[in-house]
Amino acid sequence: MNKTKAVIDQTEKYGAHNYHPLPIVISKAEGVWVEDPEGNRYLDMLSAYSALNQGHCHPRIIQALKDQADKVTLTSRAFYNDQLGVFYEKLAQLTGKEMILPMNTGAEAVETALKAVRRWAYDVKKVPENQAEIIVCEGNFHGRTITVTSFSSDQSYKRGFGPFTPGFKIIPYGDIEALRKAITPNTAAFMLEPIQGEAGIIIPPEGFLKQAYELCKANNVLLVCDEIQTGFGRTGKLFASDWEEVKPDMYIMGKALGGGVFPISAVAADREVLGVFDPGSHGSTFGGNPLGCAVAVAALDVLIDEKLVDRSRELGAYFMEKLKEIRNPLIKEIRGRGLFIGLELHTAARPYCEQLKEQGLLCKETHETTIRFAPPLVISKEELDWAIERIKQVLHTT
Ligand code: PLP
Repeated sequence: MNKTKAVIDQTEKYGAHNYHPLPIVISKAEGVWVEDPEGNRYLDMLSAYSALNQGHCHPRIIQALKDQADKVTLTSRAFYNDQLGVFYEKLAQLTGKEMILPMNTGAEAVETALKAVRRWAYDVKKVPENQAEIIVCEGNFHGRTITVTSFSSDQSYKRGFGPFTPGFKIIPYGDIEALRKAITPNTAAFMLEPIQGEAGIIIPPEGFLKQAYELCKANNVLLVCDEIQTGFGRTGKLFASDWEEVKPDMYIMGKALGGGVFPISAVAADREVLGVFDPGSHGSTFGGNPLGCAVAVAALDVLIDEKLVDRSRELGAYFMEKLKEIRNPLIKEIRGRGLFIGLELHTAARPYCEQLKEQGLLCKETHETTIRFAPPLVISKEELDWAIERIKQVLHTT
């Protein structure tokens, strides 16, 4: 039995089956390339759902991890550590916000955002006790906790997990009139992904984000952008909300914030909002640990020094143009921004992902019919050409 099969058998035997991975084992990785135990190489076009924008095992980020690991890894927030302030200042400057609150995973950062906007609604907006409402969008994906799945519109995310958390209203994504109707004096916030990732790279109608911003401002409602998947250059701007020059009241960030090396997430907002937390109201043992902070600072430095945001925008436009040359009646639509591209088929996408894997290209279907292409932003034009050749082999029919 080869090593790949042994590893898959072991994983399937002892692990809960809450994922359906492609049958490939990754045992080594560098930049945009990964390797299986048999030494076969693959181009990674998923980037761990956009957590690897800086590429696998980026030497500067790994060095920061090693240097910090030799000093101190965890203090808890019972004490200060000498990396947290540096991280705060850097992320505050990058987001243009006054305050940061660090957590570990994306879902935790979303929970943090929900707690912050609810408390803001009671303490600042003066919404009556327990009446705060939060508006979200159909097709949203914000994580897997009970509260977050409470407002999912996907039944497969929810089945068997009730009772759910109340206080959420769901409107169609990109529908400004529905947002207008949904807002009441008790609305605390409108939370959305500026481009929906898990739903299949769905871009809202042009102007929606700006109109939503203005509507929220006019009604004293906080606009919260979940940039966990779309942030840090993925869509060709630092944040996807920058495409409409919108500065939300709160950013939720994760994934590439840790450079694919260490889980770190955060929310950023001004003092009026994040100032609602007082000691004891929120926290996390590992949130803001010095190892994560040192890694995040290096991950942000790499993003800026290597101009990965511009790279994503330029190479994304090139890649999109090449994809659009593919002729196949099964292709329904190709859409995206930067190196965040969805190719929607009229049929199931999984068999195509399996065939692409055989050609040495890793990507994953999302919502049955869409293939998501989201390579590390360090990818070169030549590597994209290599990918296009494989995609053409699998999809070209004329
Ligand atoms: N929000 C968005 C937009 C995401 O894409 C994800 C993960 O895919 C999450 C939240 C949840 O992040 P995590 O898996 O780190 O909890």
